[in-house]
Amino acid sequence: MSDKIFDKFQNSVSQLLIKHKSILDVLTKQQESITRVNRAIIKAVTSCGCIEINASKQEISDEISIEHIQDILDNHLSGQLCDHCQDIIKQEMGNHLFYLAALCNLLDLNLSDIIEKEQKKIHTLGIYNMLR
Ligand SMILES: [Zn+2]
Repeated sequence: MSDKIFDKFQNSVSQLLIKHKSILDVLTKQQESITRVNRAIIKAVTSCGCIEINASKQEISDEISIEHIQDILDNHLSGQLCDHCQDIIKQEMGNHLFYLAALCNLLDLNLSDIIEKEQKKIHTLGIYNMLR
C-alpha cells in the first residue's frame, strides 16, 4: 500500500476533527474505539456464532526450533466471519484508525513514517519479532 493513502487519510482526519479536538478527548475516544473493535469480535462469537474461540494452554516442546513454533501454535479460532460481522469489525477498525490518525495529528507525528518504521523493524527482526 502506498504511503499516499496514509497521508491522505491523516490529512482528512485533521480536517474532520472538530468535536473532539482536545488530546483528552482523542485519547479516550481512541481507547473506546479499540474496545469497540474487541466487542465486535466478541459479538461475532457470542451473538452471531460465525466464529468460535476455543482456547487452552499451548504446549511448546523444548526441542522445537523457533522457526517452527509458528507452525504448531493454534490461534484458538474456528469458523469464518460472516459478511455482517466482517462489515461491523471493519467499520470499528476504521473508526479506530481515525482516532489513531487524530492522535498522530495532535502529536505532530506522521502515520506513514510510523508504519514504515514498524515495517522495517518487522523485516529486520523477522521471526524474532514474534517473541516481543
Ligand atoms: Zn457473524
